[in-house]
Amino acid sequence: MNTHKEVAADGFVIVGEEICQKIISRADAFGAVEAVFAAMARGDAYNFPVVREAIGHADALYGFKGGFDRSGLSLGLKAGGYWPGNMDKGLTNHQSTVFLFDPDTGRLSALVGGNYLTAIRTAASSSVSIAHLARKDAKVLGMVGAGHQSAFQLRAAVEQRPFEKVVAWNPHPDMLPRLGAVAKELGLEFEAVTQEELGAQADVIITITSAFEPLMMADWVKPGTHIACMGTDTKGKQEVDPALFARATVFADEIAQSITIGEAQHAVGKGLIAEGDITPIGAVINGTHAGRSNAEEITLFDGTGVGLQDLAVASVAAKLAREQGLVTPITL
Ligand code: NAD
Repeated sequence: MNTHKEVAADGFVIVGEEICQKIISRADAFGAVEAVFAAMARGDAYNFPVVREAIGHADALYGFKGGFDRSGLSLGLKAGGYWPGNMDKGLTNHQSTVFLFDPDTGRLSALVGGNYLTAIRTAASSSVSIAHLARKDAKVLGMVGAGHQSAFQLRAAVEQRPFEKVVAWNPHPDMLPRLGAVAKELGLEFEAVTQEELGAQADVIITITSAFEPLMMADWVKPGTHIACMGTDTKGKQEVDPALFARATVFADEIAQSITIGEAQHAVGKGLIAEGDITPIGAVINGTHAGRSNAEEITLFDGTGVGLQDLAVASVAAKLAREQGLVTPITL
């Protein structure tokens, strides 16, 4: 069925943050993100160049991430950014809106709140990497970071492997109890540990911080670990020791972003790995790359966050909202 024909006929819908929270499950986000990563690796979907500007007002960073998925038929962009002063106004610092267009006609098909979707699609990204790359017997999850995204990451990750325990470290230790409460709610043992201890215990590690220096050194990570580096999405940010890239088999959501604004920027810049050493995660999903080859291998996923992830989950939100009668089409 070509849903876009109906969209063109009856106008566009506005899908607010509350509706997104109500209708998009972690399973929906996982399915949408896994499918779009696969489409990117097949060459069926591509991201447009990212625009990100310091606008010289309110210390804000603002920009656009767009793309087109020919197989999923999502076309559009996410517009938004980071306003550091928002917290004082009772607003989230990260603000974004997704604009979807009918690829058959170019008409606007939906405006979708992007704040909740950003969190759930980012969690789906690391979760897809765990599903395809982590050892099946992974029991201990290591969390580096305890901010807004961390709880989303934790909830999505524990659905992929039979985790029994969470070990966590954060540069601001006072933020850890909130993450501990989520782990307890999920029935998992929780322990705040040092970075070295986290590496020694964890079978899977997720890094989700705003760091500009390595928080995990290569020697601290044990053989067989899967590590998803999720915080680095800008030039200059960094979460892990570049030497870890030389020890690991490296995957990314999109290689072009990984080597420029992702965690791999540092390892590639130092000549420790080359662009050609990185495999798109979509190749593993499509079965054209075997993924993990043995239980001792360290696998590293560089999740930089691509516009197509936003479009994929926003398309599902718009479709479900229409189907469930939660939105009324309007025309411009
Ligand atoms: P947040 O502000 O709620 O939390 C920030 C986290 O980083 C906390 O753990 C904090 O202790 C830590 N931190 C803050 N400043 C630091 C510093 N100078 N050095 C080391 N650690 C520091 O942010 P969030 O919403 O949880 O997002 C975390 C990171 O993930 C951000 O950097 C954000 O840009 C990034 N992000 C990535 C994607 C993606 O798709 N890859 C998507 C959304 C957000």
